[in-house]
Amino acid sequence: MSRFLNARYEALEPYTPGEQPKNAGDLIKLNTNENPYPPAPAVAAVIDNGQLQKLKLYSDPEAAPLTEAIADFYGLHKEQVIAGNGSDEILAFIFMALSGKSGKVYYPQISYSFYPVYCGIFGAKGVEVPLGADFTVEPADYYHQDGTIVITNPNAPTGRALSRAEIESILKANRENLVVIDEAYVDFGAESAVKLIDRYDNLLVVQTFSKSRSLAGARIGYALGNEAVIADLNKIKFSFNPYNLNRLSILAGVEAIKDRAYFEETCGKIIKTREAFVKEMTKLGFHVLPSKANFVFTSSERISGEAYFAALRKFNILVRHFNDEKIANYVRITIGTPEEMDRLIAATKQILDGVAQDGKDR
Ligand code: PMP
Repeated sequence: MSRFLNARYEALEPYTPGEQPKNAGDLIKLNTNENPYPPAPAVAAVIDNGQLQKLKLYSDPEAAPLTEAIADFYGLHKEQVIAGNGSDEILAFIFMALSGKSGKVYYPQISYSFYPVYCGIFGAKGVEVPLGADFTVEPADYYHQDGTIVITNPNAPTGRALSRAEIESILKANRENLVVIDEAYVDFGAESAVKLIDRYDNLLVVQTFSKSRSLAGARIGYALGNEAVIADLNKIKFSFNPYNLNRLSILAGVEAIKDRAYFEETCGKIIKTREAFVKEMTKLGFHVLPSKANFVFTSSERISGEAYFAALRKFNILVRHFNDEKIANYVRITIGTPEEMDRLIAATKQILDGVAQDGKDR
């Protein structure tokens, strides 16, 4: 720490991103929920030399072509959409400015580990709501609160999803509170709350191009909601970083969202791979939480989460392990291509055989 740091940030615990190896080489990377398939074909086609020359100019501060294309996709008005530099930026704006009069933000105790970090940096009062059995988010625990509610649906890192009716029950019981649904993973089989936007002015849905649209490196996220809430978010954005989306990402995003067929095809493939993978892991004795995301959260009586993570690493397979003791026995595995998942299953069989031979468990 330098002597220049403001005392306010001395105790700040930053977010730890999943490892991004420099020399991925032969590594099977299943640790940060990226999409194994490339972006829609038109994305590469649109970034030509002419567009590269235009990088001398600032980007559109409203990212209008992108917000319009997103609005079109969901049947909303463009005033109901704001785009951000990844959904992380949109979430940052929410924790910065939309914690209501109480300054409190309620979220599940096990969820996206960035939320407590945002509370730390922006001074929002984070309230962690315990989960039910087997990591279920219980809607009634969020009724009649006195602050903003943020729910990841499907939840991360568990993959468990609430139904739209359950989300609606939370909205109904919190007319005076903003309810943010972080739908980073919704396109892999969960029910989106977007259809409720026109009926609930307290709903804000946050989504991203990083997962279902194969554009994690382009950093494009967005929020959908009531025009007044979006206007508040724009006020923050224009007070912080007006050109928050770069030119190339705006172009890429437009092409990605226009290609609905490619999006449906790739999401469909990942869902199919996930279902087959869950069957195989279950056969091997793993406990796999029901997942509606592009990852699964799994544990085994035969090997600890940490040991399984380390053993897979020796097979050049990278998954995610969290040190939090409540989930330390689990690993989170991103769904890759069928071939990648086959290699993971083969490695797991060998790992479990080794465990059996050692005569050790856990
Ligand atoms: N929300 C959740 C639940 C996530 O897991 C992630 C990815 N780490 C994000 C938001 C942020 O994604 P991005 O900034 O890439 O849009």
